[in-house]
Amino acid sequence: MSARAGIVVTGTEVLTGRVRDANGPWLADRLLELGIELAHITICGDRPEDMAAQLGFLREQGVDIAITSGGLGPTADDLTMEVVARFAGRSLHHDAEIERKIAAVVGPLTRRWRNVDPEAVAAGTRKQAQVPEGAAVLDPVGTAPGAVVPPAGSDGPTVVVLPGPPRELQAMWPAAVATPEFHAATGGHTSYRQQTLRLFGMPESEIAETLRVAERDVRGFGELEITTCLRRAEVEVVTRYEPAAAPAWHALLQLISGRHADTLFSTDGTTIDEQVAKLLDGRRIGLAESCTGGLMAARLTELPGSSGYVLGGVVSYSNDAKTSLLGVDPALIERVGAVSPEVADAMADGALARFGADTAVGITGVAGPGGGTEAKPVGYVCICVKTADGRVLARDPRLPGDRTEIRDRSTTVAMHMLRRLLLGG
Ligand code: ATP
Ligand code: MG
Repeated sequence: MSARAGIVVTGTEVLTGRVRDANGPWLADRLLELGIELAHITICGDRPEDMAAQLGFLREQGVDIAITSGGLGPTADDLTMEVVARFAGRSLHHDAEIERKIAAVVGPLTRRWRNVDPEAVAAGTRKQAQVPEGAAVLDPVGTAPGAVVPPAGSDGPTVVVLPGPPRELQAMWPAAVATPEFHAATGGHTSYRQQTLRLFGMPESEIAETLRVAERDVRGFGELEITTCLRRAEVEVVTRYEPAAAPAWHALLQLISGRHADTLFSTDGTTIDEQVAKLLDGRRIGLAESCTGGLMAARLTELPGSSGYVLGGVVSYSNDAKTSLLGVDPALIERVGAVSPEVADAMADGALARFGADTAVGITGVAGPGGGTEAKPVGYVCICVKTADGRVLARDPRLPGDRTEIRDRSTTVAMHMLRRLLLGG
């Protein structure tokens, strides 16, 4: 059995939805990588009783490790350390070395402000230097130290205490994982392997059918823990197994590769974006977008190295903009309509010419709501990818969902078209 974990996200701003929780999902990915099974993510506000209740719940559930985020600030209402210490049956003590480290960070920060009360700053620093005795203390990334707190008795999970700001939490995580306390709580369990397959261009029901065949034909299928999900119009198949079940995994991979050769695009965990980034290396791409509002440019520029190959993009909503910025013939728009394969093609031509690019994407469509007609309903999107040397791929799918989903799927389809075009040699 693998170790089990729970996450307690704190912060009234997260509870109310004013700030979207970034820490739960990020930690969930890290736990997966470590082969630790995540059982629960709970969210509470800044009230200590609520946090204590959620930790109590995780103890009842028998998790090996509980991770908290937030509530480590210098003010009196940041109470996480106190709550966790009480939960673990440990008292708080003052850590002089940590206080020096916090002061070293806080000092230069406060000198930038006038009228700061040095007494108040010192009080905040003193408060943040209070840590549970017997805990592994994690050096501050911002001003707050974290901690890995084993239970004083034999009962209950070890608690990993992390700061709320995502950047700080992420930077502190490796130090938490490296502590003997973390290892003691999660080690000694069987290690798991995890493999991710990604497929594009088929419904989830197809993979469900393949898994039924696998259940019948793959020896040791029962040893594989398989989850499938639909994400950004792609089917993702995640398989976890103990090392001894590796032959069953390989048999499953062979079965899926055979049945879905044309839709299986990733067997090594890479995303379509990472694959496109690799294929674009050394090329120069220009974008012409209408209904996706620049999301294709946003997605491509998130990739490492993208400054080398993304020249830029035009977001053209009006017909005039398509004509003046991308050189689309107004007579063509008049004849076939702004949402048409012909205009997507002309927009891609415009991007090639205007940016001096060797690769281009043109996207025009109805992301709705309200913009659709019977012939061109909401979700009808025309995409054209082409290269300066004359290779072209065009699609005009009808995509389901609301505006956000239609836009997201449009860019995913465009990414896959780019991959196919660039792989085509
Ligand atoms: P600080 O010293 O900044 O008070 P803290 O550890 O007490 O640190 P919080 O007060 O809980 O952390 O959060 C500080 C800020 O960090 C929040 O206002 C929010 O902007 C961001 N933040 C906190 N938790 C999350 C979260 N789960 N997801 C995204 N952002 C978060
Ligand atoms: Mg705070």
